[in-house]
Amino acid sequence: MIEPLPIPTRLIGGEAVDSYATSHAGRNRFRVEDLERTLRAQGQFPKSKARSHPGRKAVWRALGGLHERAFTEPQTVGGNWVIDRPLCHRCGNRNAQGRRPDIGMVCVKHRRWLGGPQVDLSRFGEALVAERHWRRALVPRGIVVEAPVVLLAAESARVGLRKGVLEQRSELVSVPSPDLCQWPVRTARVWSVVLPAGGQGNCLVMANRSAHPGVRWCWP
Ligand SMILES: [Zn+2]
Repeated sequence: MIEPLPIPTRLIGGEAVDSYATSHAGRNRFRVEDLERTLRAQGQFPKSKARSHPGRKAVWRALGGLHERAFTEPQTVGGNWVIDRPLCHRCGNRNAQGRRPDIGMVCVKHRRWLGGPQVDLSRFGEALVAERHWRRALVPRGIVVEAPVVLLAAESARVGLRKGVLEQRSELVSVPSPDLCQWPVRTARVWSVVLPAGGQGNCLVMANRSAHPGVRWCWP
């Protein structure tokens, strides 16, 4: 029976075992390698060196006093790989990584962009609207951020967005990046691909167009 380490570490939703182990061991002034070597010598750790070994995850769940669903995020959704990526720095620590198939590219709670530099989106409301739409409409359809349809939409958004719109959006965030400025358009394009013919997808675009009359949405 492995007891939790004395100083608890909060697990962020979707956080991967490597990320959590580094953080939890560090808070308790251990090195992950030393701890695992000691437990292995005591026969309490898998002999396998595979970092994703189920036994390793079980040990870290025990060391963190975590629920049994920790570290069980799916590797694929709808046949697409769910990538490990940086999680919101405000939700957890600066180096937290993990799999979040249930979100797009924005932490809605903290209004932060999660790709590249994590910047404040308080002035870029369109990105937040796009993220909510992503979660409501695309997540249930098994769309993840690195799915081929999303990469295709990113390409399409890249060539379809006017320079003036990009410049306008760039002024709304402290560190603008092409991916961030294109996020609303990319989301709309993915939606247009997965939308059943005659559906209600245009409502989002029209709603946004009236809220932001200066913004031209690219809608195939
Ligand atoms: Zn957050």
